[in-house]
Amino acid sequence: MPKRSSFSEKLMRWYCRCARNLPWRQTRNPYEIWISEVMLQQTTVNAVIPYYQRWVREFPTVQHAADAPLFKILKLWQGLGYYQRAKNIHKAAKVLCALHQGKIPADPNVLKNLPGFGPYTTGAVASIAFDIPHPIIDANIRRVIMRILAMKGYADASRDQEILAFLNKIMPSKKAATFNQSLMELGALLCRNRTPSCLLCPVKGDCRAYQKGVQEIIPQPRKRIMKDIDVAVGILRKGGKYFIQKRPSQGLLADLWEFPGGKIEEKETPVQALKREFREELGIAIASVKPLMHVRHSYTQFRVRLHVFLCQSQISVQEDSAHKWVRLFDLLKYPMPSGSARIVEKLQHPA
Ligand code: SF4
Repeated sequence: MPKRSSFSEKLMRWYCRCARNLPWRQTRNPYEIWISEVMLQQTTVNAVIPYYQRWVREFPTVQHAADAPLFKILKLWQGLGYYQRAKNIHKAAKVLCALHQGKIPADPNVLKNLPGFGPYTTGAVASIAFDIPHPIIDANIRRVIMRILAMKGYADASRDQEILAFLNKIMPSKKAATFNQSLMELGALLCRNRTPSCLLCPVKGDCRAYQKGVQEIIPQPRKRIMKDIDVAVGILRKGGKYFIQKRPSQGLLADLWEFPGGKIEEKETPVQALKREFREELGIAIASVKPLMHVRHSYTQFRVRLHVFLCQSQISVQEDSAHKWVRLFDLLKYPMPSGSARIVEKLQHPA
């Protein structure tokens, strides 16, 4: 077991010298820290920077986020994925305005009851914004501690109780913000998943995995199996407008807008799938189809290939709150899954 003071001091000294200069590290504003931490659970630091900057420009306070229509919140989140997190920010902002005058309370017991505040977000906001000594576990911290302790097994939540117990022992009583961020930064910059830079590591003297020479196989590597999904998509055009529909409010990509279509089942051709989907979803038959483009997009667990067709139907679909005919330029205002957003891009800038 490394000694608490020397371990945390070495780590924090390194952080003060080497940490990246990131926009959310220039502030102690709890709202901005909250937004950055939720976004960072989605994707890489570089991908988050423009989203974060756009968000704090559009919604500079909790009140701005609470007052914004969900439509606008989802549009700003478009491309980050896990849209439920954006919806939870919106809900939590409303609660904060209703119960806490739009301020974020410096109390983990209050924070943890806000929509979307799981143990990570609660601990991150409490420690980074308010310096409350509250340990947190994200993917980087989990990997670092598994190596420090030479823990066997996969990097999943099954070892988190042991990791948490260890973090509680080494957590300094002051400077929790620096301590937690230094662990995350160590994981991001040196203690990377593949080829950790142990020779540069400030805590290599405390690292059991390094001492045993097993750091590259801790955590145990997992084989990632990516599923391929083929989807047929139909573009209906009428008088310069395009037809889009809103996804249901529950489930995958809820409340986003997309072109009609659906998954191509086994033994179906893309055109057969398209005709079936139009019949089932919209109750209309397609008179003709013409191949238009292919779009590929990767999610965490699967890759999607969109087979896009220009379609004609003798019956026009009527507009209502979940079905719209929209001009090409105005399609940009609608929050869409990445695949549909790519189709809009290609429609606007044909090759
Ligand atoms: S010595 Fe290597 S494996 Fe251990 S914490 Fe440092 S970078 Fe990670």
